[in-house]
Amino acid sequence: MKPVAIIGAGITGLTAAFYLKRKGIPVTVYEASGRVGGVIQSLRQDGWLAEFGPNTILETSPKITQLVRDAGLETRRLNPDPKAEARYVVRYKRPIAMPGSPFDFLTTKLFTAKAKLAVLREPFVPRRRDGVEESIAGFVKRRLNQEFLDHAIDALVAGIYAGDPHRLSLTHAFPKLKALEDNYGSLIKGQIFGAGARKRSGEVAKDRAPKFSFDEGLQVLPDTLAVQLGDAVKLNTTVTKLTQTTDGWVLTLSEGRVPQAPLATGEIGDSQSSSLRNETQAEHSAVIYCGTAFRLAELKVELLRGTGFQPVSFSSVEVRDRQDACPTLSTFSEIRYPPVASVVLGFRREDVAHSCEGFGMLIPRIEGFKILGTIFSSSLFSNRAPTGHLTLTSYIGGERYPELALLPAEKLVALVCEDLRVLLGVTGKPAFQHCVLYPKAIPQYNVGYGRYRELMSEIENKAAGLFFAGHYRDGVSLGDTIVSGVNIVERAEKFLTAK
Ligand SMILES: Cc1cc2nc3c(=O)[nH]c(=O)nc-3n(C[C@H](O)[C@H](O)[C@H](O)COP(=O)(O)OP(=O)(O)OC[C@H]3O[C@@H](n4cnc5c(N)ncnc54)[C@H](O)[C@@H]3O)c2cc1C
Repeated sequence: MKPVAIIGAGITGLTAAFYLKRKGIPVTVYEASGRVGGVIQSLRQDGWLAEFGPNTILETSPKITQLVRDAGLETRRLNPDPKAEARYVVRYKRPIAMPGSPFDFLTTKLFTAKAKLAVLREPFVPRRRDGVEESIAGFVKRRLNQEFLDHAIDALVAGIYAGDPHRLSLTHAFPKLKALEDNYGSLIKGQIFGAGARKRSGEVAKDRAPKFSFDEGLQVLPDTLAVQLGDAVKLNTTVTKLTQTTDGWVLTLSEGRVPQAPLATGEIGDSQSSSLRNETQAEHSAVIYCGTAFRLAELKVELLRGTGFQPVSFSSVEVRDRQDACPTLSTFSEIRYPPVASVVLGFRREDVAHSCEGFGMLIPRIEGFKILGTIFSSSLFSNRAPTGHLTLTSYIGGERYPELALLPAEKLVALVCEDLRVLLGVTGKPAFQHCVLYPKAIPQYNVGYGRYRELMSEIENKAAGLFFAGHYRDGVSLGDTIVSGVNIVERAEKFLTAK
């Protein structure tokens, strides 16, 4: 059997390749850059361990636990310090602990009495029945109130999507909240009465799911999967074109080093400006695309005549002599991926007034700071900073301030230090500093995102043996992408068996 092609060696592609290989199905993983892991990037340097992309995996599904076990990584798994449970949200220009119980909620200074009353009223707010797709901001204002949006949800949305709550879709970005309203008529009733259903499915709600990393950071997971895949992983190889044949797929590959220095201060994470490229072709039985939506938009796809693809609804259409027309997929370039800069700073313990015990702090726009949020990395995991020091990982940019993410590294560090001075009482100069820019960080599942998902399904239905998986389709969290990688294997296997 010809190998299955996996495009992209981020966590989705590596998970899919790992499980296909375990089933005895040959695979080849093509990765445009010179490293595996995609946006996952851990750096060990001089006693510091910095994470620039994701910091933790939320164990929301048994499939995530199973992957860690199957990869042989149980002994390297690192659970957070139990003291790091506290999460802070900034209000009145200082971090306030988020309430952990109903009693805490009644006494917290994070919300006014009016907001607390809005929660008590929530179970009696009628569900929306007109079928109109709503933003998360609209939903929160309807079921709770403006204060919840401005002082809690805005910060939460910055923490997950670096996004704009007025644009993010309730249906696509927060499907579980929508399901609570649809199934139980209320968020609070759904939390109480939905517990049994969640338990039966084995799924764990994101706010309750255990989180973890590995002894040397999250990079351990992609690195381990890549070692087990061996020669099947082809780095510095960009897939530029997919051509369907009667027998499978021919991939056009552009080999050569993509200039990429994601671990250098202030350098660009995903730049693909061309260098000397050597073009080749390879035959495959099926293709699983696990790259990014903006690179998908650049792929050329040619389908066999007779697939009946009707590209009338797409503006940009490729017509080939011997093949049916197929959209160039340029539609996917509309998906917004705002830039985010990760700024990892290390300080001497005595230079930080705040205890920094906890997961970190989220900052709503209304508070007027530049950073979106900060993770208290060395409180979360024990080995992130040398003795007597702590590590703080802050994020700048997103939909809130995209232009700030593009500032040079020294300006980013200065902005972050100023915000940390006010919020955490940080006084000294950083003992460690490292910035990484993600020019296109996280896809925004904005209102209307359904049409991109529908287009993917439509192409899959017409182009037998072509599959889409990953953060742009099945959810942006690491857990979502791992589950996406596991699930796509079942579909690909079914296709190969039928073939
Ligand atoms: C700054 C930041 C912080 C985050 N924090 C968290 C967090 O704390 N917790 C959490 O759960 N999630 C977090 N996320 C989200 C999560 O990390 C990602 O959604 C997930 O890692 C995406 O994995 P992926 O494999 O789908 O895509 P990617 O990691 O983007 O990998 C895609 C790969 O495909 C390659 N590629 C694309 N096109 C081609 C092509 N044509 N040919 C060959 N290769 C190609 C790319 O080079 C890339 O390596 C964060 C994301 C970012 C950016």
